[in-house]
Amino acid sequence: MIVKDTSTESAKTLHYWGDWTDSKPLALFTESIVTMLTRPSAHQAFVDLISLMGQTFPISAPAMYVSLQELGTSIYTVLDPKDGGNEDTTRILGKMKNKGNYSYFKVKVGGHPPVLKDRVDVAIIQKNKASVLLSINSGNHEYIFRQWVKILAPAMIKVIDNEQLKNMAFRDSLTGLLNHRAFEQMLGIECDRILRYGDTFSLIMLDIDWFKVVNDRYGHQAGDRVLRQIAEKIRESVRKSDMVFRYGGEEFMVIMPHTRISNALKLAGRIKKNIERMAIIPGHKITLSQGVTQYKDGLSPSDLVRKADIALYEAKHKGKNRIEVE
Ligand code: GH3
Ligand code: MG
Ligand code: MG
Repeated sequence: MIVKDTSTESAKTLHYWGDWTDSKPLALFTESIVTMLTRPSAHQAFVDLISLMGQTFPISAPAMYVSLQELGTSIYTVLDPKDGGNEDTTRILGKMKNKGNYSYFKVKVGGHPPVLKDRVDVAIIQKNKASVLLSINSGNHEYIFRQWVKILAPAMIKVIDNEQLKNMAFRDSLTGLLNHRAFEQMLGIECDRILRYGDTFSLIMLDIDWFKVVNDRYGHQAGDRVLRQIAEKIRESVRKSDMVFRYGGEEFMVIMPHTRISNALKLAGRIKKNIERMAIIPGHKITLSQGVTQYKDGLSPSDLVRKADIALYEAKHKGKNRIEVE
């Protein structure tokens, strides 16, 4: 039997890695993979990843640009917008040919605030539907970062694939809104939150008036266009903290955390006005009816939906294009 003596090789390897064994890079490599694969959401994984890099190499001032089709662009950075963050964003988004909206997440790291110097950009993923780019201050960490990116890429791809799968399961493909399944989950979460911490929230159920007429008169494609534009308008009309769902065919739901009925009614009024101003099909006004309700002690998620439904029914019964409360 021939047993290959690998002692010299491993000694070499050990020697090579010896510089790094007790150094920061190895810890960063290992911890970042664990971070990527164990966080409950891609968002949390990215926040923790940048935090980890920022703490390990404070002067590198890492920023990560994540652009996903349908989900948009998110920036995770240790840079303050005023201290180079905006500058870096403009440069990178230009490179990514991204002119749309983005979300900026400043990741806090201890010590002095990092500043922008000459930057080095490394693509971690570059695909049609997803691109991830890392930007750091140039200096003595570049080599380590390039190695790190190679090691990290497969875990990153896994996280992004997962996120896109989740997106498919929880989003409606016609309007891009969250779907019925997502609504059930979020309503459950919101009710639990209230039970634990008090507070309240409100719910609006919306239904397009005479929608069958739109399909019958102008065709199904026109109907789809109306649905998409109405969905977009509802989303534009609410606040950032509110959640909009496509509940069914031409029915929508809005969950408004921390909101009492008086403010929910104001919001419903704003949606009504904004929809009335639209001209999706020339010469044909589209309106919608709304049922509004506020969470009260002891109500279950299905009780709440029932109440919103009763209010909506009343709005329809009283002549449509109205808002009723239950
Ligand atoms: P009301 O004012 O009482 O709400 O009447 P309505 O015509 O809006 O309501 P109805 O429930 O009678 O009709 C809803 C229509 O919505 C019927 C269905 O074909 C249409 N619909 C549901 N989903 C879609 C869709 O994805 N695209 C299109 N184009 N039509 C849809
Ligand atoms: Mg309906
Ligand atoms: Mg309808």
